[in-house]
Amino acid sequence: MVGYGECFFAPGLTAVVRELKPLVVGGDSFDIRRLLHNLRTAGFMASPHGGVLHHAMAAIEAALWDIVDKRLSVPVYKLWGGAYRRRLRLYADCHAGEGLASLNSINAPRVPWWLGAGDTDAVPLEVHPRYHGGRSAEAIEVDIGAYTKRAGEAVEEGYTAVKFDLDIPNSYARDDYNRMLSPQELELLVEVVAAVREAVGPTIDVAVDCHWNFSAESAIAAGRALAPHNLMWLEDPVPPGSDEAFRRVVRESATPVATGEHHYLATQFAHLLEAGLLIVAPDLQKTGLIEGRRIAELAELYTASVAPHNIASALGTLQAAHLSATVPNFTVLEHHRLDVPFWEEVVTGREAPVIQDGHITLEDKPGFGVDLDEEVAYRHRKRDEPFFDAAPA
Ligand code: MG
Repeated sequence: MVGYGECFFAPGLTAVVRELKPLVVGGDSFDIRRLLHNLRTAGFMASPHGGVLHHAMAAIEAALWDIVDKRLSVPVYKLWGGAYRRRLRLYADCHAGEGLASLNSINAPRVPWWLGAGDTDAVPLEVHPRYHGGRSAEAIEVDIGAYTKRAGEAVEEGYTAVKFDLDIPNSYARDDYNRMLSPQELELLVEVVAAVREAVGPTIDVAVDCHWNFSAESAIAAGRALAPHNLMWLEDPVPPGSDEAFRRVVRESATPVATGEHHYLATQFAHLLEAGLLIVAPDLQKTGLIEGRRIAELAELYTASVAPHNIASALGTLQAAHLSATVPNFTVLEHHRLDVPFWEEVVTGREAPVIQDGHITLEDKPGFGVDLDEEVAYRHRKRDEPFFDAAPA
C-alpha cells in the first residue's frame, strides 16, 4: 500500500524526512495522531513553533491519510465527514502580470534547469534584502497593460478570482530596507489596481499580495487608498512578528487583510484572529492537515474565511482541495499551475486537466484520488538529492 504526501520546500528538508523515518516505519498507518505526536516530540527542542520539521511532518501526515483512505477505499474528504462542496473555487495568481520568478530552497532567484539553465540548481548567491526580489529598480517602467492582459486571460479561462503582487519593482522606491512606500509608489499601486478592477469588472474578486514588504504605516496607507476598488484582500502587508503592527493594519487599513502562510499552529492563528484577521491563509503543506483543519475550524468561530496558500503540485493542491471541501468557511484556493510546465504530469489516475474553468472537482476515488508519477517526479527532483530510497526502476 503506497500513499503520497507533498510538503513545502525548505533547506535541508529531505535530510529531516530521512532522519524521522525510524519513528514512522513499522507503525500502523491508522495511528496518525500518535505518530505525529511522536514526530513533534522528537523535534520539539529544535522546532517547537514551526519550520522545516513541520514541513516534513506535513508530508508524512498527508501520505498516511492517503494510505488509510486507500485501505478503507474512501476519498479523504468522505472520511473527514463529507464535503460541503465537491467543486472548489481557485484563484489565478497573476503575479506582476508575468510568470513567477523561480526560487531555489534558499530563496535565491534562479532560472530553473527545465527552462534551459542546464543540469543544475546552482545560482550565484545573491539574495535580495526584500523577499520576492525587492521594489527599488532603476528605470523600470511598470507595464500596467501586462496586469490587465493577464487578468483578462484568467477571467476568460473561467476564474472568478485573481491575485496580483503589490510589491512591484519600480523606480519610485526610495530605499530597499525601510519598507516605506513613497507617494509616487502609492499612486502607482492605486493605478495598477484601478486598471485591473476596470478590466475584470465588479463581479470578479481581486486580491493583492505585499509579501511582508511594507511598514505598518505604508500598509495602512495602501489599504486605505485601495479601499474604493473593493479588494478581496490585502495579503501579508507587514512582516510576521509584530502583533501590534499587524493589529493596527487590520483595524486601520479599510481593506480586508489575509495572512497565514508563515504560521504553523492554531495558537498562532488565534492571536491573528483576536487581532481582527478576516481571512486565514494557512499553507497546508506547512501546517499539516489535522492542524490545518483546526485552524479552519478556529477561524469559523470568528466567522473568518479560509483561503489556503498553496504553491504545491497537483498532488499537494488536491490535498488542500480535500481539506477545503470539508470546512464550511472555505472561500478560494491558490495554485500555480500556470508557472510550472509539469504541474499536472506529476500525478496519475485522474483525467487531465485537474483544474477546469477555475475549479477542481473532487472525484470519488480512494485517498487523494491520485498517485505520484515517480518517473516525472524523478526527472524534476531537486538536483543532487536522493530520490526516496532509490530512483524509479
Ligand atoms: Mg502570498
